Amino acid sequence: MPNIAIPFDNTYARDLPGFYAACQPERAPTPALLYFNHELAEELRLGLAGHDAPALAAMFSGNALPAGAMPIAQAYAGHQFGSFSPQLGDGRALLIGEVIDRYGRRRDIALKGSGRTPFSRRGDGKAAVGPMLREVLVGEAMHALGIPTTRALAVVASGAPVRRETLLPGAILTRIAASHLRVGTFEYFAAHGTTAMVRQLADYAIARHDPDLVDSPQRYADFLRAVAERQAALLAQWMHAGFIHGVMNTDNMGIPGETIDYGPCAFMEAYDPRTVFSSIDAGGRYAYAAQPDIARWNLARLAEALLPLIDTSEGRAIEAASEVLDAFPERYHQHWLAGLRAKLGLGGELQEEADAALGESWLDLLHAQGVDYTLAWRRLADAATGNEAPLRALFAAPQGLERWLERWRARCAAADAAMTHDGPPAELRAQRMRRVNPWLIARNQRVEEALEAAERGELAPFEQLLAALRRPYDEDPALARYAEPASDAFMADFRTYCGT
Ligand code: AMP
Ligand code: MG
Repeated sequence: MPNIAIPFDNTYARDLPGFYAACQPERAPTPALLYFNHELAEELRLGLAGHDAPALAAMFSGNALPAGAMPIAQAYAGHQFGSFSPQLGDGRALLIGEVIDRYGRRRDIALKGSGRTPFSRRGDGKAAVGPMLREVLVGEAMHALGIPTTRALAVVASGAPVRRETLLPGAILTRIAASHLRVGTFEYFAAHGTTAMVRQLADYAIARHDPDLVDSPQRYADFLRAVAERQAALLAQWMHAGFIHGVMNTDNMGIPGETIDYGPCAFMEAYDPRTVFSSIDAGGRYAYAAQPDIARWNLARLAEALLPLIDTSEGRAIEAASEVLDAFPERYHQHWLAGLRAKLGLGGELQEEADAALGESWLDLLHAQGVDYTLAWRRLADAATGNEAPLRALFAAPQGLERWLERWRARCAAADAAMTHDGPPAELRAQRMRRVNPWLIARNQRVEEALEAAERGELAPFEQLLAALRRPYDEDPALARYAEPASDAFMADFRTYCGT
């Protein structure tokens, strides 16, 4: 019996019949709460303070859904590794409802791993403890870095095993998202539905994510542009953090511009633009450096689905959509450049080509010597105050670094001189740089260790790592082992799996 009420307002279920299948979660035999984010629950105004762990476990396993929940599996399609899968949908996820958070934002609450749905195909609808806690660690690390992302509210161990290569403990994750609308949602209704359905979906998405476009005469082209703009900004943030999503299929690209679907993702350590971690991405389609181009490719699939709405003349629709897609690389570049200048500590006047070239040659240097990406940026902030030894220690052959540092210092001095007031002193530059160049990322070796312990029932390493990841910009000697690069031996074999 549901005994707890959450103030749901389920617009997707109410306004879009025919876009989902109503479906109940499977019963978890012995639900046990592994993780719960009370702060996020308060942000969402769920009114759950005072409920104990067993009550929360019952609720977020799906066993005792709160009153007002309307569990549905959403329909979507998607291009996976370049080829179209017309029938995906929530095979192991259920949207249970929407709430308005403390800031007035509508947020989805969804279960992942709650059992089979009409979209499960041959899957079991389940998820395992390790990959769900991994989603918590990486997602919360992204959030702490200021990168838009879906977030984990809860992880509940189900008490039932899931069969993968071996038997693993099962779990249900509760995922919070600005919405679960994906590029693939549009592709599904463009492939199976009618233009009227695609329009209904687009109107829903516009009202929810781009309400200022509702009255625009060319709102569907504008909507495409707004989605593209969010992706351009998001991708620039991923690239600056060294984040590799791993499966940028169109069903994993969200309309709200949040990072979604933490499967075989990971943070790069030694800088190499061709880095791939995913065990299923042998061809390197979703390698680090490929991500901005893949985002544009995915947006082209969204554009195709929207074409009949953009203009009744196909020629004119293609022209309007192409304009957005053609502008994407430059939009991305502008976001990337702004982020790059902040990471380099450059204030003052923008020197577009010179600053981009300075950043590119820095990255070339890191690549040539396989330097740890995160630590190099962080130690560059120290170098701003003249403390260059920690940076030099990262380089096997420091000559190239010396030449580059000279260019950088000259550019910093020029940027300072160009400012109307006195240039910021070195310490101020270093502080600004430390606010954008994290000391801590979710390092793969530490994540794997924490998850292995959790699978044995020992949650302390997971909790300690999570606490550290929540403060990525604070250098704390007590947490030094989380900041260390993994050994070469670990990275040589490191692969991430899809988390299914
Ligand atoms: P993902 O790789 O998590 O983005 O999932 C791709 C598609 O496969 C989505 O339609 C998922 O719902 C579905 N899927 C993934 N794992 C499972 C599973 N264990 N059971 C059923 N469907 C799944
Ligand atoms: Mg997915």
